[in-house]
Amino acid sequence: MTLGATRDSVEDRPLGKKSIAPSLPDSVWLTEAPPATPALRGHTRADIAIVGGGITGLSAAYHFKQRYPNKQIVVLEGQRIGFGASGRNSGFISQEYHGWDSLFFSKGAAAVEPYAEYAERGYRQLVETIAREAIDCDLQESGALRLAKKDAEVRTLEKQVPAYARLGRSVELWQGKDLAARIGSEFYPAGVFLPHWATLHPGKLVRGLRSTVEALGVHTYEHTPVQQLRRGSPVELVCPDGRLSADTVVVATNAYTPQLGLFRHILMPLHLYVMVTRPVDEAVIGHGAWTSVPGRYEMDATHTIRLTPDGRLLIRGGARYDYNSRVADRHQPRAYQRLAERLLARYPYLGNVRAAHGWSGVMALTRAHTPLLGRLENDPRVLFSVGYNGFGLVSGFYGGRLVCELYANQPNPDLALMTSPAKAGWLPPEPLRYVSLNVSLALRHHRL
Ligand SMILES: Cc1cc2nc3c(=O)[nH]c(=O)nc-3n(C[C@H](O)[C@H](O)[C@H](O)COP(=O)(O)OP(=O)(O)OC[C@H]3O[C@@H](n4cnc5c(N)ncnc54)[C@H](O)[C@@H]3O)c2cc1C
Repeated sequence: MTLGATRDSVEDRPLGKKSIAPSLPDSVWLTEAPPATPALRGHTRADIAIVGGGITGLSAAYHFKQRYPNKQIVVLEGQRIGFGASGRNSGFISQEYHGWDSLFFSKGAAAVEPYAEYAERGYRQLVETIAREAIDCDLQESGALRLAKKDAEVRTLEKQVPAYARLGRSVELWQGKDLAARIGSEFYPAGVFLPHWATLHPGKLVRGLRSTVEALGVHTYEHTPVQQLRRGSPVELVCPDGRLSADTVVVATNAYTPQLGLFRHILMPLHLYVMVTRPVDEAVIGHGAWTSVPGRYEMDATHTIRLTPDGRLLIRGGARYDYNSRVADRHQPRAYQRLAERLLARYPYLGNVRAAHGWSGVMALTRAHTPLLGRLENDPRVLFSVGYNGFGLVSGFYGGRLVCELYANQPNPDLALMTSPAKAGWLPPEPLRYVSLNVSLALRHHRL
């Protein structure tokens, strides 16, 4: 499939045409998954059971096992470890708090500082763990580019540069011909280069964390969806072929959490789409200066584009809310096709590049922008860390640690920043929620 070609053939059709990509394989990050661990069968016990094997669940397992080496800690994963957003994301990490700018311009630098410190601490925890545990996940701390598409956004970027400086971040504004020469595209009028951003391979991160926690003695059960969480002492987790009783349960199911019957009116699952090309020629990579600026995202959050460690281009875009917070990971060929068209519109020299992977993934929004983290009000044995607003690599990893500190009653200023269910703000009931969210996504150009 050639992005810019116009002729069809059975094996090799252009992505710019309709219905040509139904057979694209799923997430490129998950192609090297290890064999699955057996599902839970019969009845078993654990001191701490973690529901969900993504970055949050693995981080919680890591931090609990480090702190309590003698406790029996298990992870129950409904599909495969990394199956959720953790194995489907764009792989950007940052020391920046998502939403800092609106806080800065409405309440000033002092209001942002605790959140900026939270984001920095979270980032440091993640990269220090990657180094300490020798996790090879192609971490590239070479910055990212935040791009404006229209004049109003350029003005916003111009205002953000001194705001970044006020927060101690040195950033560079690139504009016009200078920007075009730096990224090989005239599509964007301006961009701010952010040296405090980085990219990594999320699949390798998940696999590395998984082998780290398994080596520490954490037991993982895959293909073990928790169907029911029965509160009490102990908490009972009911699965298709077995049951687990645990003194403490950590809910680490992010966007899937409403399906467990929790936070149905607070967490908003959003489906996003990704299309990845086959590896591109070095000349093409050089033309777009992809090696020097591998990570690029649009400031209206509509698209993220990056170079993958194995020389492919990835574009993430589109967002859809499914009725009643339903989560369904399914192929949407039309979405991949639109993404290919948008990649070409931004970088027309990619005309001979071919599509190789397409998938959807689901993230969770909270109204407050900070994660939802705490203990269930009516059962303090159940802890949770969910709702990362699209920034879960850092916040999910750090959330796994914060949940452990909450359990240990260890004071941490960042715990006070988290959203509690009582303060989260309710979503409107269905069908109003479905209509209002999707209309709002369409108005903000997120629908593909
Ligand atoms: C397309 C896309 C791009 C993104 N890009 C970025 C990015 O560049 N940077 C960034 O920081 N964040 C990004 N995000 C967000 C980030 O991926 C998530 O916030 C993060 O991965 C959430 O991790 P998690 O472990 O909490 O949840 P998940 O990774 O979703 O893991 C939850 C796990 O729970 C399992 N599960 C669900 N229900 C049950 C059950 N009942 N029983 C047992 N197991 C269950 C699921 O199978 C899943 O594996 C992106 C998200 C998407 C979808």
